[in-house]
Amino acid sequence: RYIDLEDLFKHLEPFAYYLQSCSYLLTENEKTSYLNHLSLTGIKRFAPLGTITWGMEGAPHDGRFVLRELVSFIGDETRIQNYGEKHTYMQTAAKLKQHFENSQHPRGYIFSSGGTTGEPKYVHYSYEEFDRMTDMLAYNFRAQGIKAGSTVANLFVAGNLWSSFLAVEKALEKIGAIQLPIGGLCPSENITTYLMKFKPDAIMGIPSLLVMNAEQALGLGHDLKIPKVFYAGEAMSETRRDFLKNTWKTEYFGSAGYASVDAGVIGYQCVNCLAGEHHLFADVVDMNIVEGEALVSSYSRHTLPIKNYATGDRVEWVEGDCGCGRKDKKFKLLGRIDNTIQIWSCRLLLADIEKSIKNLDSSIMSLQLILTEGQQEKSVMEILELNYEVKAGSELNSKLLIEEIYSNSRDLKDTISLDAFSQRIKISAKLPNEIKRNARTGKISVILDRRN
Ligand SMILES: [Zn+2]
Repeated sequence: RYIDLEDLFKHLEPFAYYLQSCSYLLTENEKTSYLNHLSLTGIKRFAPLGTITWGMEGAPHDGRFVLRELVSFIGDETRIQNYGEKHTYMQTAAKLKQHFENSQHPRGYIFSSGGTTGEPKYVHYSYEEFDRMTDMLAYNFRAQGIKAGSTVANLFVAGNLWSSFLAVEKALEKIGAIQLPIGGLCPSENITTYLMKFKPDAIMGIPSLLVMNAEQALGLGHDLKIPKVFYAGEAMSETRRDFLKNTWKTEYFGSAGYASVDAGVIGYQCVNCLAGEHHLFADVVDMNIVEGEALVSSYSRHTLPIKNYATGDRVEWVEGDCGCGRKDKKFKLLGRIDNTIQIWSCRLLLADIEKSIKNLDSSIMSLQLILTEGQQEKSVMEILELNYEVKAGSELNSKLLIEEIYSNSRDLKDTISLDAFSQRIKISAKLPNEIKRNARTGKISVILDRRN
């Protein structure tokens, strides 16, 4: 005798190992809940009362599905799912250690993210995952003309728990390229020497470091030709592009792959992609654009399926078919989400400020914006400090620059007067390399928000 379904389950559960067939007498209403619940005891057959000996074709015998042995089960392993919330996958070191203690055979790499604030975060890649990443990067380079026998200088920064140098090295090995594993922190004069001696077909690295090395070569009076430049980690602004075109006679600029250390490789370029445009690795990565930001879900990390990872990158879809014939969707990178400055109740885009400076002097490449708050009688005024690097004697006319920025930013014009803007922006010319660089990355923190 039993009281209810739950009670019946408790009676049967101890015998789970022996149970096979069950005869039942149930109403249609009761049937679904009883069969669903009791199937958890391990019962393999349910038959209406009086039919249990009939044995339907394919019914299990001795608890085994005999026909299953004659059938192949084919899996569709699409596991990209949209879970509707943002995630990040970086871990603290303590959490990662805990993860290894709970794993059977932990192997692979530990990587760190770039210059984030707060407690440093890390991410684990198994060798298999890293291998997959580098397959994807190799595809990116092949699609842009790197082939077996191409000579390539790798100027990404090695060490520091970073992935880029290693990943590019492995990808180039897969292609069968000839590699110059120089590394971005190698002394500039050595870099120039290697480039002069081996005359690579392509050079890969972070734009600001590439520009620095091109400047060095220029200063030394070397005549170098590097036909292809591949970059990642920062935007290759038009100014930087023009400078490298002039200095290295570069004919082609391409993405070294759109990737993030926690979500893996997301997109690749083909020769038909314009600056910032990428094809999505659509068979393993799904992308949603939410309020302008790219959220990606990815199955490229098999130990850790990525769901709605917030990239922090502003993107938009590129419509139409690509000239290369590939069907993978295309998107365009529009800069970091945080390259938008909220100040004086308006939205100021870093791109508008860069454009304004370029319009006055296209040789200026490095700038920094510092947001502060200044006391003013009873209220607090937000101040935007704009520092840019320029050779002594070539300083810009600040008044002209203010007018230029004002006319380029629509939000600014709609929100405050030119006069009010002039009182709230402080422009300073700095000497080359005077703006502080991150000691590890060599990059400038372009926007520093020092308002409480
Ligand atoms: Zn294409």
